[in-house]
Amino acid sequence: MEGAEVIVVGAGITGLSLAFFLSRAGVDVAVVDRAGIAAGASGVQPGGVRQQWSTEVNCRLARESVDFYAHLDEELGQGVDARLDRCGYLFVALTEGALGGMREDVAVQNSCGVPSRMVTATEAGEIVPGLSTASIAGGAWCSEDGYFDRPQTVVEAFAQAAATQIAIADVVSLSRGADDWEIRTRTGPLRARTVVLASGVDARALLRPLGLDVPIEPEARHLFLSEPVAERLVEPLVVVGERSFAAKHLANGRILASDLAASGDATQHRERWRATVARGIDELLPALSYVSFPLLASGMYDVTPDHQPIVGPVGEEGLWIAAGYSGHGFMLAPAISRRLAKAILEGRGAPIHEFSPDRFGGESLALERNVV
Ligand SMILES: Cc1cc2nc3c(=O)[nH]c(=O)nc-3n(C[C@H](O)[C@H](O)[C@H](O)COP(=O)(O)OP(=O)(O)OC[C@H]3O[C@@H](n4cnc5c(N)ncnc54)[C@H](O)[C@@H]3O)c2cc1C
Repeated sequence: MEGAEVIVVGAGITGLSLAFFLSRAGVDVAVVDRAGIAAGASGVQPGGVRQQWSTEVNCRLARESVDFYAHLDEELGQGVDARLDRCGYLFVALTEGALGGMREDVAVQNSCGVPSRMVTATEAGEIVPGLSTASIAGGAWCSEDGYFDRPQTVVEAFAQAAATQIAIADVVSLSRGADDWEIRTRTGPLRARTVVLASGVDARALLRPLGLDVPIEPEARHLFLSEPVAERLVEPLVVVGERSFAAKHLANGRILASDLAASGDATQHRERWRATVARGIDELLPALSYVSFPLLASGMYDVTPDHQPIVGPVGEEGLWIAAGYSGHGFMLAPAISRRLAKAILEGRGAPIHEFSPDRFGGESLALERNVV
């Protein structure tokens, strides 16, 4: 491959969904990745898709994405061997303070059409059989939230549906020529009129030599996983922010449990994270007491100061970024990439003003606080 009209750097959910929308619009698009499809965070994420957010923009985008995912076969124009299980997400509050925050979020969500609602401790116990309600003040529940049974199959399905060239190439630098971009890779140069950096935590390093800085920081994240357990033990996802604890019985039988604050080096902190998980289980989900968690799945969040993606044109003409998804890129990708493809085609500016690359450094940012 020598080039394409549009080259997308990064074959994660962001780059592949963008390639899908561009190729469907008839654009000559190619994707390059240093390591292959879903080599970054997209290959680690367990497929959570939810609409319970604190900002309107995320509620609206999530609602659109959930609808896309619910009709994935029709949207991609091919059968996909993956199913969105709308098991629901229960956010548990232990204190009146946390409950107040959830009430505000639910009001925002409902104003955007998200069918979430506040629940009492008793209702929480009915939604999650086996949940210990003694220390619970209440919670927020959305029955439409859910999980894919095969999240990486979904990422691959975008690659197939895009029907575009995907090349293995490690991009080392970019430079602007008279009327296009040169993309230097370890295996030779490529040329494109438009380049989109969908390269997650590594997008910043490619922009720096061009004198551009985007505030994306890597944050290591870790999930404990059990061996497959046949008996279903926790059906909806349970998230308890005040205990930094979440647990979910995945479709493949493995139980996922996490210390939501777990970041940093696993060899150093693993036992501390395990203690957080054990405490959450003892207090709230005793049915999991006999489950052991021998596996640790680790990946990177690409985090921005307001926990929102950076999506739009940067620097000289023809250069775009779609990165910094801060832990919610899988679930928002369809709605964001659809808008981004349209903006690129029409030569417009940032497609979602809340995610504009030039929002930093000035007025105060609208923080998305519902990141887990
Ligand atoms: C533990 C964990 C759990 C998560 N759970 C969820 C969840 O339940 N739901 C959800 O919506 N999100 C979740 N996320 C977040 C989600 O995985 C990410 O937001 C999303 O995958 C980001 O996709 P991306 O395509 O932007 O980036 P990535 O998937 O990281 O892809 C970037 C790609 O760029 C390539 N690349 C980078 N630099 C270069 C270069 N110089 N040259 C060539 N290629 C390059 C990399 O190889 C990589 O393949 C989770 C993340 C983690 C780590």
